[in-house]
Amino acid sequence: MSDRNTTLFERARRHIPGGVNSPVRAFRSVGGAPRFFVSGNGARATDVNGDEYLDYVGSWGPLILGHAHPEVVAAVQAAAADGLSFGAPTEGEVELADLLCRLVPSMDMVRLVSSGTEATMSAIRLARGYTGRDLLVKFEGCYHGHSDSLLVKAGSGLLTFGNPSSGGVPADVAKHTMVLDYNDAAQVEQAFAAHGNKIAAVIVEPVAGNMNLIAPDPAFLTTLRACCTQYGAVLIFDEVMTGFRVGLECAQGRYGVTPDMTTLAKVIGGGMPLGAFGGRRDIMEKIAPLGPVYQAGTLSGNPLAVAAGLVTLRLIQAPGFYADLSRKTADLCSGLSQLARKHGQVFSAQSVGGMFGLYFRAECPQNYADVLECDTAAFSRFFHAMLAAGYYFAPSAYEAGFVSAAHTDADIAATLAAADAAFGRLSS
Ligand code: PLP
Repeated sequence: MSDRNTTLFERARRHIPGGVNSPVRAFRSVGGAPRFFVSGNGARATDVNGDEYLDYVGSWGPLILGHAHPEVVAAVQAAAADGLSFGAPTEGEVELADLLCRLVPSMDMVRLVSSGTEATMSAIRLARGYTGRDLLVKFEGCYHGHSDSLLVKAGSGLLTFGNPSSGGVPADVAKHTMVLDYNDAAQVEQAFAAHGNKIAAVIVEPVAGNMNLIAPDPAFLTTLRACCTQYGAVLIFDEVMTGFRVGLECAQGRYGVTPDMTTLAKVIGGGMPLGAFGGRRDIMEKIAPLGPVYQAGTLSGNPLAVAAGLVTLRLIQAPGFYADLSRKTADLCSGLSQLARKHGQVFSAQSVGGMFGLYFRAECPQNYADVLECDTAAFSRFFHAMLAAGYYFAPSAYEAGFVSAAHTDADIAATLAAADAAFGRLSS
């Protein structure tokens, strides 16, 4: 049988750079042709060859209810029948804002946008406008979308200013971003001691999910809070991935640290393009039309996205939702760790709520340098063995994975049976 994924990938590369509309989809780090999906149902997605996969990517996090949840689809269809966009306020936006401000501890006010990138970019502009300062602190390996200030890597020495990590980002922009090591509280204190009165904001993934998964040292998060409070900087938790993924109160509720601002996307849009940034009232009141910091969007608060988000946020409030999701995700990780041990593989795994990390490394990493020690060749072999068996994990050793409410205990057990064979093949 001809492989339609390969054929389509070849065709895609003629008119789409790299054949994809977002780089990691190209399978470059694991090799082979990406799967072109045609449909999804619950925990499963089917590709153009008609092959079905148990999906542990879930569109990179949004699909906490699984693919095509009937209530989400019905809400989007009903909203579409009433009009795709008005560019004017709708009642759904008000409902969603009320709900987000009730559920997210740090949110007094919120503005809706259409992606995580827009949310973080706007939050940073607002933090700069609010403080009248330019300097931004981020952490190596954290991803906050693709705006210029955030595509920055560490400078040549500790506590120096950043360099662009992408072509097209002016050095003059990157120099306003300082890049520190994740989970290093002492370095944060040093940075504030040296530059505290110039720091507008610290942005952090409170559980890092873009360098595989890194769990935060609770002292790291409390140090960020203490330093930002002491020096009058804005603490931004980028909860685009962790928001409603690690618990109903997001990571800030889980770890008991309240930022000044929070960015959201992914789960809150239920698979539709929706992001949000919000936080303290005195900060949020600096945005146009109330204040001097400009931010806008033709499709912001789009009725279809809001409809999908409202249903998703209603369903995840069901009693026991996160206990069940967390248990299944933890079972996957402990099962994989045991099987790897059985086959003599150097491997570790961990989960936080419904997100997980798999590492071909003896211990779970604490920061970006640790992540780089993972055996990426072993990951690629494991990835392809699982893919061939019908299990779709993220096509990169540096990405977190996601379990949805649609994954059953039987799905986890079947995944572990397939992993037993995959680890066995790795060892032979
Ligand atoms: N922030 C975090 C923590 C993310 O994980 C992502 C995307 O993966 C973004 C921001 C950017 O979001 P988007 O891809 O919707 O622009």
